[in-house]
Amino acid sequence: METVSDYFGSLVFDDRVMKATLSAKVYASLKKTIDEGETLDIGVANAVAEAMKDWALSKGATHFTHWFQPLTGITAEKHDSFISPSPDGGVIMEFSGKELIKGEPDASSFPSGGLRATFEARGYTAWDPTSYAFIKGKTLCIPTAFCSYGGHALDKKTPLLRSMEALNKQALRILRLFGNTTARNVRSSVGPEQEYFLISKEMYDARPDLRFTGRTLFGSRPPKGQEMDDHYFGAIKPRVAAYMEDLNQELWKLGIMAKTEHNEVAPAQHELAPIYTTTNVATDHNQLTMEIMQKVASRHGLVCLLHEKPFAGVNGSGKHNNWSISTDEGQNLLSPGDTPYENAQFLLFLCAVIQAVDDYQDLLRISVATAGNDHRLGANEAPPAVISMFLGDELSAVLDAIETDTPYKGTEKTQLKLGVHVLPRFNRDTTDRNRTSPFAFTGNKFEFRMLGSSNSIACANIMLNSAVAESLKLFADRLEAAKDFESELHDMIKKTIQDHKRIIFNGNGYDDAWIKEATEKRGLLNYRTTADCMPHLLDPKNVAMLTSHKVFSVEELRSRCDIMLENYCKSVVIEANTMIDMARTQIAPAVARFSADLARNVEAKRSVVAGAACVYETGLIEKLSGLCDRIAERADTLQNALVSLQEAEGSQAESIRIRDCVLPKMSELRLVCDEAETLTEKSYWPFPTYADILFSVR
Ligand code: ADP
Ligand code: MG
Repeated sequence: METVSDYFGSLVFDDRVMKATLSAKVYASLKKTIDEGETLDIGVANAVAEAMKDWALSKGATHFTHWFQPLTGITAEKHDSFISPSPDGGVIMEFSGKELIKGEPDASSFPSGGLRATFEARGYTAWDPTSYAFIKGKTLCIPTAFCSYGGHALDKKTPLLRSMEALNKQALRILRLFGNTTARNVRSSVGPEQEYFLISKEMYDARPDLRFTGRTLFGSRPPKGQEMDDHYFGAIKPRVAAYMEDLNQELWKLGIMAKTEHNEVAPAQHELAPIYTTTNVATDHNQLTMEIMQKVASRHGLVCLLHEKPFAGVNGSGKHNNWSISTDEGQNLLSPGDTPYENAQFLLFLCAVIQAVDDYQDLLRISVATAGNDHRLGANEAPPAVISMFLGDELSAVLDAIETDTPYKGTEKTQLKLGVHVLPRFNRDTTDRNRTSPFAFTGNKFEFRMLGSSNSIACANIMLNSAVAESLKLFADRLEAAKDFESELHDMIKKTIQDHKRIIFNGNGYDDAWIKEATEKRGLLNYRTTADCMPHLLDPKNVAMLTSHKVFSVEELRSRCDIMLENYCKSVVIEANTMIDMARTQIAPAVARFSADLARNVEAKRSVVAGAACVYETGLIEKLSGLCDRIAERADTLQNALVSLQEAEGSQAESIRIRDCVLPKMSELRLVCDEAETLTEKSYWPFPTYADILFSVR
């Protein structure tokens, strides 16, 4: 039998394949491009393309594609075959360096937020050699960035790579100040934990809301939900286990290090976590993982739901973005060191993150904002929409001691004075866990927990990398100009703690009292919806920061803000239309039919027992016909709210109407429909209920 190590990465043009198929010269040149971002010579590109093509053909591939991540949030590909006519009437298989490096998809249908006029429809895709090419089906996929002819980024990869470069540049400045002369680059790494629901395809097919919107828009609570806490880490059911096994194999073939899998809190909910890797590769891998999760599910007669809130009243799905920064020499800069000097460097990087998260709370919130994720943040299951940081008791005590110039009462009693050598020593082990914090330090990495399960992790990491690059830049500017490095460092760390300690909170983030304290006492931001937060992308401080690090241009930011708001509006409008349709054509008619049958029963009964009271039937008929009227009425009201959207000028105005007029009307319609569900005999109900769906996979 084939073992995992036999087939791991078998569909990836990885370092092993490069070494085996490229000449030493070409390999060395490509490595330089990958590691140091040197531009690739066309001769080298031709040789790489040739080797890539031969390798792909040997794996049964017939086509190639530039694989990219437009602003729709999913990946895009347009396939070209390798065939080229030969003079004798046959074909030869060709793939040139030019085709490898650059593509020109007709991209007029991808959102550009006005960056690309339709007459100038073509954008171009450019190879990202730092992410390996791979084979999906019969197609060689080449990870690429996607830009307009004017050079504007139309995708998520381009700004992500730029943000990594910004972080690299500033972090290296700091390392040099600490005497590190050997590190060549600093990169952020990410391990995203991915939550999802698995339900039977039969149930999914019977629910228009799931099919059109990815979430249920109706459904009363099942008699049994997650209250028994018997699902989390429970035994995995055979059908789910078979799915996970198959999924792992597919991911492993693509070189994705799927590592951990377990049941989550809600029934039918599960989690998959890979081993962390460089951020842009982790991003590509997470996009692929989401795609393959869905594909493999369909082979098992299942559907994988990646929506943030597929079921009301049941835990939603998130994605935890475990993030750290490290040098090419393998030093994790978020890991407390063994010596006081290393600890000083660690404290500096820690402070850079603290300052970044406090100064750019809004950008972090924006980076996870979608219509779907709005249902999670703020409910008592996911971190709140308020951003705060958890550091744990030990680290908080260290910061306290520095801030107040008092002895640190930790493992070592040190009087704190100016200078690095008296910064406290502390253990690297911080075992305390806090599951309710949006941004938690977990020993040697930060876990950003606000991402929605369907979010591309690119957005969160773009903001995180950029904001931290900004604090590191401010620190480096100051330290490079300092006369006495050690005392300047001490003052700077102390000042940063004083200025930004409001963002640190070690308590229960789900507590209502915390939201009150955060917003009223500490002045932290609480943007509850996408409509609330998105316009702040264009706040002057945010534009200044993101453009100064060359992560986005002003035009790119404007277009992104517009696209995100448009996406929000479109998603909700589709949901509202689906609701109206289901209410009018399925729910109301079913309830009416049931009432009519009840009425006929009354007639029938009374023909046997003249004057029978029929209290059960008449009472029910009365309730149901009242509900039926209200369903019809509320569907009309919702429809009117949708019509009134036409009056809104621009996506921002529309998003506010959606927040204030459409979403509340949707809840009102749902309320009466869900009540009707609880009163209607089951066989009349037009689609599977929550209980049917959530316990459908055995
Ligand atoms: P949890 O207790 O939250 O489940 P784990 O230790 O299992 O945490 O790790 C969760 C994720 O964090 C995994 O994807 C793992 O690879 C990733 N991870 C671990 N260390 C790091 C690190 N230094 N940088 C980034 N991600 C990391
Ligand atoms: Mg976690």
